[in-house]
Amino acid sequence: MSRPSWLQALLRPNIASLQPYSSARDDFKGEAEVWLDANENPYPQHGLNRYPDPLAGALREKLAAIKGQPAESLFLGHGSDECIDLLLRAFCRPGQDAIIVQPPTYGMYRVSAAIQDAQIIEVPLSEDFQPRLDALKASYSESTKLLFFCSPNNPTGNAIAGEAILEAADAFEGITVVDEAYIDYCPDRSLLPQLAQHPRLVILQTLSKAWGLAAVRVGLAWAHPAVVAVLNSIKPPYNMSSPSVQAALAQLSNTAQLHERGEVLASIDERCNLYEALQELPLVQHVYPSQANFLLVRFANPKQVYEALLKKGIVTRDRSTLIHCEGCLRITVGTPDENQRLLQALSEMDA
Ligand SMILES: *Cc1c(COP(=O)(O)O)cnc(C)c1O
Repeated sequence: MSRPSWLQALLRPNIASLQPYSSARDDFKGEAEVWLDANENPYPQHGLNRYPDPLAGALREKLAAIKGQPAESLFLGHGSDECIDLLLRAFCRPGQDAIIVQPPTYGMYRVSAAIQDAQIIEVPLSEDFQPRLDALKASYSESTKLLFFCSPNNPTGNAIAGEAILEAADAFEGITVVDEAYIDYCPDRSLLPQLAQHPRLVILQTLSKAWGLAAVRVGLAWAHPAVVAVLNSIKPPYNMSSPSVQAALAQLSNTAQLHERGEVLASIDERCNLYEALQELPLVQHVYPSQANFLLVRFANPKQVYEALLKKGIVTRDRSTLIHCEGCLRITVGTPDENQRLLQALSEMDA
């Protein structure tokens, strides 16, 4: 496939000219009776002795069909974290290029950038966790290659308005990455239907949250087919293991559409119940509205609350050191039983 000139210009020069590794399973893809091309052990009967399909084609087709997008727009990574890492490696020259992050947000953008030695430009969200478009636009430069949005945002829980993201993306000459890890809790907020109109957009999704497959490690990056081809050319040849792909396929064919399983609606119901119940507690100063499967909750003394919950066997995430998150714990919505235990434990503490 010929690569568009805007992409050729954005890529690191060494990636733009990369001759990718061609694995045995790339060189020959057909059916055969005797496989003597990949130095595998031919004896085991457990079905795990052969290298997997480098592109996990069956899973890719299935996910593309579920989301109503062409498979060539989908890259599959070992979790979204691999997708984030590969984006950094494709676009950011170490010591020269930069990414923009909007804290408080997911920590991996910053860590992947630090590993790549890319500069990190912070344009914090406003106090009500909305993007500051003027400040964003003022931070763009030729060496700014990636702009990260997270919607719904972790740890705040709010979905960001699609119009704001697209306005920022259209004004940006680099790649805008929208991390939609929690989008299956608010599918109508997804920007995936806009992808075809915005070639420099990359949308990250994952099977780790609503799909309930965190252990399986499947991350999705939806992008222009030429961007997908670049990611495929720089990933480790066999990044998707056969057991993971099999497990994912088995779950996807059980459910076809996620909402048929009812778990997403149950979690949303429980989130609403928890949102109400937490506000009744004297200990709680504020509960932020959420479109995801967690709540950001403000306490006067978050460290004490965290420790007291831990003593009762309940683990939450202390986010109180992040900008605009003073006093806040991030609490995942559990089963009705687990949420009841949380509320009980909190109500037994002194305000
Ligand atoms: C949990 C989470 C992910 C998931 O990463 P995986 O590697 O796919 O498990 C990605 N982004 C955000 C914002 C998350 O909260």
